[in-house]
Amino acid sequence: MTISQDIKRISHWVNGSITPSTSGRHGNVFNPATGEVQAHVDFASTEELDHVIEVAKQAFKTWRNTPLSKRADILFKFRDLVDRNRLELARLLTAEHGKVTSDALGEIARGLENVEFACGIPNLLKGNYSEQASTGVDVYSIPQPLGVVAGITPFNFPAMVPMWMFANAIGCGNTFILKPSEKDPSASLFMADLLKQAGLPDGVFNVIHGDKLAVDHLLSHKDIAAVSFVGSTPIAQYVYETGTKHGKRVQALGGAKNHMLVLPDADVNMAADAAVSAAYGSAGERCMAISVVVAVGGVGDQLIEAISERLPKLKVGPGNDPQNEMGPLITREHRDKVASYIAGAADQGATLVVDGRKTEVPGNGFFLGVSLIDHVTSDMACYKDEIFGPVLCVVRADTYEEGLGLINDNPYGNGTAIFTRDGGAARKFQFECNAGMVGVNVPIPVPVAYYSFGGWKASLFGDTHMYGPDGIKFFTRTKVVTSRWPDPSTSKVDLGFPQTR
Ligand code: NAD
Repeated sequence: MTISQDIKRISHWVNGSITPSTSGRHGNVFNPATGEVQAHVDFASTEELDHVIEVAKQAFKTWRNTPLSKRADILFKFRDLVDRNRLELARLLTAEHGKVTSDALGEIARGLENVEFACGIPNLLKGNYSEQASTGVDVYSIPQPLGVVAGITPFNFPAMVPMWMFANAIGCGNTFILKPSEKDPSASLFMADLLKQAGLPDGVFNVIHGDKLAVDHLLSHKDIAAVSFVGSTPIAQYVYETGTKHGKRVQALGGAKNHMLVLPDADVNMAADAAVSAAYGSAGERCMAISVVVAVGGVGDQLIEAISERLPKLKVGPGNDPQNEMGPLITREHRDKVASYIAGAADQGATLVVDGRKTEVPGNGFFLGVSLIDHVTSDMACYKDEIFGPVLCVVRADTYEEGLGLINDNPYGNGTAIFTRDGGAARKFQFECNAGMVGVNVPIPVPVAYYSFGGWKASLFGDTHMYGPDGIKFFTRTKVVTSRWPDPSTSKVDLGFPQTR
């Protein structure tokens, strides 16, 4: 493919500056609200990947020596710069992802929480110290950085998910290579520039754009110590298996099918508000979106009615118009795939209560209205697959046990929620459900930054969750030192195995 001179070009960020690719390969970046190609993003060659890894490797030598107070100072300054540039960053998110501005600002706020957490890096990197573990012997642990680490991120949170990763990674003293989604790559460059303005030395944070070629090279390169990945389950599994086969530490977060269990005693209006917000916010393109409501006992009819009443009021249109609440989907192909699940559900015998295909938005944007599908059963494709669009399926269950069974039998286990006024039922649910993040009357239970984020089952491959305390663990390795300052008067040869005395 030749690169047109007329169209905006999005290039890599290497060693502190924009670095155009010479690979001759690129991808299209669409404006999902108009359907137009608005930019071309460079795709890296293996030589360019080797170069950026070498840059990050050299930068590590000095960065790991940089005092904790200096690292914290840079993170504080970065936090302040993002704060002051929220609207500009949100504008980029809306332009390339399509989400409405208010949602983009929410993404930035949740991403910033992770930077704020990492500002406490001097405290987070304290080791342990045991004085007099044996006579005259002290033992202490030191968390140390890994070296060059990589982050590979999905299209749906182009600012927040990178912040989940790089704030802790660089705070811990690693150097970082971000391979953002090729569908909305500009936010990563904006953040790279703010990091530089905050005083981050060149080479500590780099952005390399690309496709499978770039991911595969990062997964196999000897100088990449760890890979943090967020994306769909098949790719997460592939990244985990390939990266670990090459001896790397890998955490790979995958897709989801989040169920919201509504018990008969729940406040129906509150449950309906929560279901609508969590199913259709960001056009359903959130890994913590509610895609299935399980209505227990007799609550189903009331709930369907309450949800249906709310849907005609939702405003769908371009994300940069403040009156709109839901923007387009990311690509035309994805929009059409989501629509095919709606058609398939009707063919398989479900009831189409609201059909989003009927919503019309002028122009050629990738819009799809909201859909509500009732009487869904667990054998239908719309139930089994992660649709990742504005489609809410409702499954009827006679009992709590039947509803819980659906959640626990599902291959995914990212988030789940229960809506009830019965504290005992909620406690039983949190004890029994197989999911990594649980909401009690909270539909999108994304943990605050000082906890960690992660699903179970096919929603996460690896041992550590993302950000928070697990993030610090992932981006460091611990060294334990056993130390004695011998008193020369007691020194003697002893070939026995060392024991505490
Ligand atoms: P994706 O898996 O298509 O892409 C994610 C990253 O992997 C991108 O950087 C992409 O370039 C790269 N990639 C794509 N195909 C590849 C291949 N064949 N080989 C190597 N690399 C490849 O995901 P997406 O469509 O960008 O994002 C949506 C998905 O991410 C959904 O499934 C969603 O649930 C999931 N997600 C999960 C979480 C979580 O925390 N669990 C958070 C956000 C998104």
